[in-house]
Amino acid sequence: MKRFLMVVPAVALVLGSTTACATKKFVRTEVGAVNDKVGTLTQQLEQNEQRTKENETKIAAVDERVTQTDQKAVAAGSAAQDAKNAAAAHNVWETGLHQAAAGDTTCDKCKKVVPKARTNFTADGTICDLCAAGIPA
Ligand SMILES: [Zn+2]
Repeated sequence: MKRFLMVVPAVALVLGSTTACATKKFVRTEVGAVNDKVGTLTQQLEQNEQRTKENETKIAAVDERVTQTDQKAVAAGSAAQDAKNAAAAHNVWETGLHQAAAGDTTCDKCKKVVPKARTNFTADGTICDLCAAGIPA
């Protein structure tokens, strides 16, 4: 009984110290591994932050370009509308010119510009109805 009592603490001491050493070593190894991981993750986090900043800068630049392109498109649309209006005005002017050329003429007698429908072809030339009727201008 006395011998058994001596063996138990000895075994316990050996086991205890071995377990304690193994535990310290295990903890040291695990902590080291965790530290390495934290270091790696910190590095990756810093890289991600850097990339995020770069992406934000790029997005801002793209946004600026889109705004500029939009303004150019609006300006181009406005210029196209101006050109269309100018062409329409030119067409109106030209149509009036053609109508005048086709519809009006100058009386050879009184020299007034009169509608062709109100003229007569005579030996004296093209004369207006009033001149043809002998009514003085
Ligand atoms: Zn006339």
